[in-house]
Amino acid sequence: MAGRRPFESLYIHVPFCHGKCDYCAFYSLGRYGRPEQEAYIHRMLMEMAERSSDCATLRSVFFGGGTPTALDDDLFEKLLDGVRSHFRFSDDTEWTIEANPESLSEEKIAIMASHGVTRLSMGIQSFAPRTRMTLGRRGHLEGLESKVDAIRKAGIRHINFDFIYNVPGQTPDDFRMDLRKALMLRPDHVSAYALTIEEGTALAKHETAVDDDDFLEFWRLADDILAEGGLRRYEISNFAKSDCKCRHNNDIWHGATYLGIGPAATSFDGMDRWTQVSDLRKWLDGDTSEMDILPPDKRDAEILAFGMRTVDGWTWRQFAERTGVDAKSLRGKEISRLQQLGLVMTDDNGFRPTARGLLFNDEIVMELL
Ligand code: SF4
Repeated sequence: MAGRRPFESLYIHVPFCHGKCDYCAFYSLGRYGRPEQEAYIHRMLMEMAERSSDCATLRSVFFGGGTPTALDDDLFEKLLDGVRSHFRFSDDTEWTIEANPESLSEEKIAIMASHGVTRLSMGIQSFAPRTRMTLGRRGHLEGLESKVDAIRKAGIRHINFDFIYNVPGQTPDDFRMDLRKALMLRPDHVSAYALTIEEGTALAKHETAVDDDDFLEFWRLADDILAEGGLRRYEISNFAKSDCKCRHNNDIWHGATYLGIGPAATSFDGMDRWTQVSDLRKWLDGDTSEMDILPPDKRDAEILAFGMRTVDGWTWRQFAERTGVDAKSLRGKEISRLQQLGLVMTDDNGFRPTARGLLFNDEIVMELL
């Protein structure tokens, strides 16, 4: 049975962006001023003081959003100071910050480097003007190469680029060019997400569905081209050089606990999951979180299914150590069925998705849940 554990990872949600992209379903404000930022930082520091004693020495910290680097420089620094001073870290704690290239000023890079940030995740989505226009992608990519140089010179070693594919009007050639351009900048990690058009987004008003015909071609292109740069798929949408997986996400796919601070941030303590209200004003007023409570066996099954997003899946031992439960006792019949369908493979060591199972992860999840 999964039990409550101290938080091993920290997620910080920064709900500000320089404008709202048309496809975006994350909680973020495209328009805000100094007072909103100040109120946000004030409340974040209070929450850090209240919750830090529930955390173990952190394996990872992830600043997401929104666009963390959209904060004013002094407030950005205050946020990083707050995290540094309230929590405990080891020498190899992973620190990731999401950034849009245009908001990466010299000052921001210097603040990140002086606070020990180890990993920068940059939202590119596409270099192609037509695809960017369809996505209503804000910002520009001017000076990207020199920014990447400056990041490396400042000592931030790990760089990820985010891309989106299967965008209406985007061709496999467009995507091929995107990935080739990305490889010229030598990232050690690339995330490539298939577009889903989410209800309520500006994109959903003029595009109702993406054409799935090209999906497989995009999927294979990502494998083939990124392999030329030494990046291998290790999760449905993530590729990395060896030893450069995102520790934060990889831990979470394998049942790690995490504390989320900020509006719309989710936490998981090993048993329960909860999400803070997705509204800055209500969050500042202390509105309660939305709880997701499951019986222990359902939670264990969820943890099992989540690990199957990754190429490595689970070792039997790793799952037993994580949850205290034997995976074969929990879902033995279902695992055999998935094996017969060619969606997973098992051996003495553990079980993992096949190439087909990675593509049709929904079927694995449905069976295991
Ligand atoms: S930058 Fe990211 S979080 Fe902000 S609006 Fe665009 S997609 Fe959403």
